[in-house]
Amino acid sequence: MAYITLDFDAYRQNLEYMGQKVGDISKVMAVLKDNAYGHGLEQMAPLAAACGIKRAVVKNTHEASVVAPFFEKVLILIEAHPKSALVNDKFIYACDDLHAIDLFPNGCTIHLKVDTGMRRNGVMPCELEEAFKKIRENGLNLEGIFTHFYGADMLGSDFYVQNECYKKVKIACKELAKKHKIEPLYFHSRNSAAILRINDDFDDDFVRAGIASYGYTDLDESFGDFNLKPVLALWADRLSTRELKKGDVVGYGGVFAAKDDMVVSSYDLGYGDGLFRQNGENNLHVKNGKLILGRMSMDCFSLEGDEDSICVFDNVKEYAKHFKTITYEILTQLSPFLKRVVKPYTNN
Ligand SMILES: *Cc1c(COP(=O)(O)O)cnc(C)c1O
Repeated sequence: MAYITLDFDAYRQNLEYMGQKVGDISKVMAVLKDNAYGHGLEQMAPLAAACGIKRAVVKNTHEASVVAPFFEKVLILIEAHPKSALVNDKFIYACDDLHAIDLFPNGCTIHLKVDTGMRRNGVMPCELEEAFKKIRENGLNLEGIFTHFYGADMLGSDFYVQNECYKKVKIACKELAKKHKIEPLYFHSRNSAAILRINDDFDDDFVRAGIASYGYTDLDESFGDFNLKPVLALWADRLSTRELKKGDVVGYGGVFAAKDDMVVSSYDLGYGDGLFRQNGENNLHVKNGKLILGRMSMDCFSLEGDEDSICVFDNVKEYAKHFKTITYEILTQLSPFLKRVVKPYTNN
């Protein structure tokens, strides 16, 4: 049966590396949204906790419920219906604009997002005063302020400019917190790329580590070699083997035709499992270099030879490049129904 292996030591090493960057691993919030970037929420949450992570970041209330037993706090990024937010001592909701402040239920804990240039979510810096006032009036528990960088992995000045805006926001928020007697008030801004770029200019309370914890970065090589280790590998098992005569075709559309007599096998993984579909026209190969023959089916693909088990990839960078996309997309598409096996599993 096709399955995913998760390398616990790689995950620990990536998290510890970021822990060193920020001074203490407890400042690293593990971003486990979207089924832990396809790795498996149920598997990754206890591993993060075993590494000393105290806070997780997830997509929605459902994901928060799954990971809550493992963490002190869980930040929920996406809640389009703030009225239905849950009030308890673990859940924290990202608050994306002034209007949402009116909708979250009394007593709900929030982190207020500030728009420092991405123009997607968050209150504008000029709205901060009003936001703090509304938060007070509506009886919300403001525990944190955060922003998100749109260009932390880009060369150029975008990151610097946005970070300057964030620094001003921070000063303003500290003033407002004093005025409204809000304490403690935590700050966080950095995603993976911004964490990897830390030199000696870090004074936030937390960071949000996503893709780098899983072993990847899109940062330009000029920023350094970060020695991140991919956590996930995808494996497929042999379904069936047959001998082809010269001219026989394989799979839908008969796109691949044997140039000679050959042995082919099918493997139990396809685009229905979230693998990007090979259409038979461009060369896509599995880890050992063998080309996928013809079109990938929903639940299987074919290779030359007859090995029992095949590693499709243990590093998605090349796969992502092949499909002109980013590692995030290849990973998050992986079906939650694939079996996940943690290696080595040391339940400490
Ligand atoms: C997904 C996400 C992150 C993590 O980003 P990476 O680049 O994967 O580290 C951090 N913050 C927010 C708000 C996010 O949505």
